[in-house]
Amino acid sequence: MDDAEENGSDGSRPFARSITTIETNQCGPAPPMPDLQSPHGPAHEPMTTPQDIIRNDVLAMTSYPVPDATGFIKLDAMENPFPLPPELAAHLGEHLAGVALNRYPAPRPEALIERIRQVMGVPAGCDVLLGNGSDEIISVMSVACARPGAKVLAPVPGFVMYQMSAKLAHLEFVGVPLKPDFTLDTEAMLAAIAEHKPAIVYLAYPNNPTGTLFDDADMERIIAAAKQSLVVIDEAYQPFAQKSWLPRADQFDNVVVMRTVSKLGLAGIRLGYLVGRPAWLTEFDKVRPPYNTNVLTQAAAGFLLDHVGVLDAQAAQLREERTKLAQAVAALPGAEVFPSAGNFLLVRVPDASVLFETLLTARVLIKNVSKMHPLLVNCVRLTVGSPAENAQLLAGLKLVLR
Ligand SMILES: *Cc1c(COP(=O)(O)O)cnc(C)c1O
Repeated sequence: MDDAEENGSDGSRPFARSITTIETNQCGPAPPMPDLQSPHGPAHEPMTTPQDIIRNDVLAMTSYPVPDATGFIKLDAMENPFPLPPELAAHLGEHLAGVALNRYPAPRPEALIERIRQVMGVPAGCDVLLGNGSDEIISVMSVACARPGAKVLAPVPGFVMYQMSAKLAHLEFVGVPLKPDFTLDTEAMLAAIAEHKPAIVYLAYPNNPTGTLFDDADMERIIAAAKQSLVVIDEAYQPFAQKSWLPRADQFDNVVVMRTVSKLGLAGIRLGYLVGRPAWLTEFDKVRPPYNTNVLTQAAAGFLLDHVGVLDAQAAQLREERTKLAQAVAALPGAEVFPSAGNFLLVRVPDASVLFETLLTARVLIKNVSKMHPLLVNCVRLTVGSPAENAQLLAGLKLVLR
């Protein structure tokens, strides 16, 4: 907020100034006296409602929809279906029991950050910023870049939080359609970057909900053209893509790489991290809420990074399951499976609504993305689950696709 506008030119608070006016205004009709009996002001004024106060664009929004999945096989949110091995979970429990819950978390937990550096191979010239999920990091970047008139640009269909965070921070969102096969329309991206000069360009590698792993040469052209932008490469699905820009994060002035442990199997602890040059991260760190990652998250992440082989093995199994599921679904009449580097498949079917509803009756919850964007007409997104879950999914699919 611009304080100079809110205060009087003499630096006094507006409230103090209006009190002075009431006291010195002896000539005109007496101003209404505040009703001292009511904490809500004069009795004849109606009580304030949220509609009087909340931003109009927020009033018009709907909350991020999270369906109740109780009793369903949950294949709608790209969660890892496998629990921790019982022995490891027991050790984690002992470890967490020793955490001092009465203390605020370390604002910058150095040991955890060092562990992330080693395990994930963060380049020496880069810093690491932690977020309460990468969703919070997206929000922090939006707020930090929200100069008047600033824009955010991303291929669409893409991850909805880029647009949502941008709008909440009063940034304009520019979506550049992918090609019908969901590869990057690089010429359109370059033209849009030249026209809009966005503050932030998001490239999800691979993209959600399409699963596309964008071409490296296309990405290089975009990064080279976006000299006046920060390019955020979102690697939420890196455990399933196995390709990464992280080792190159120190080679560009205008690139940061964002990761999360959510899709690796720790969606519940809410931990994302941003890797990039200190010049960027120092600024974002000013916007980050100081205690944004809690003590249990920090302790659990530190412990599990010491056993990351368990999670890596689960990811490897899910990559195999992805291959099997893709082949099985592609063999069903009417199904078109798009190539995916994530732990999910985008599939076009003759009627996505019928498929979705039929799977619900079979107690399988998937995501119908057909209304998200015109390019996604009749598309559904299937999270790759455990072998048993995938079998039940296939059985449900066969009720419709036959
Ligand atoms: C799931 C997802 C994230 C969000 O991850 P959190 O760390 O759980 O907030 C970020 N980007 C993309 C593309 C995703 O699909």
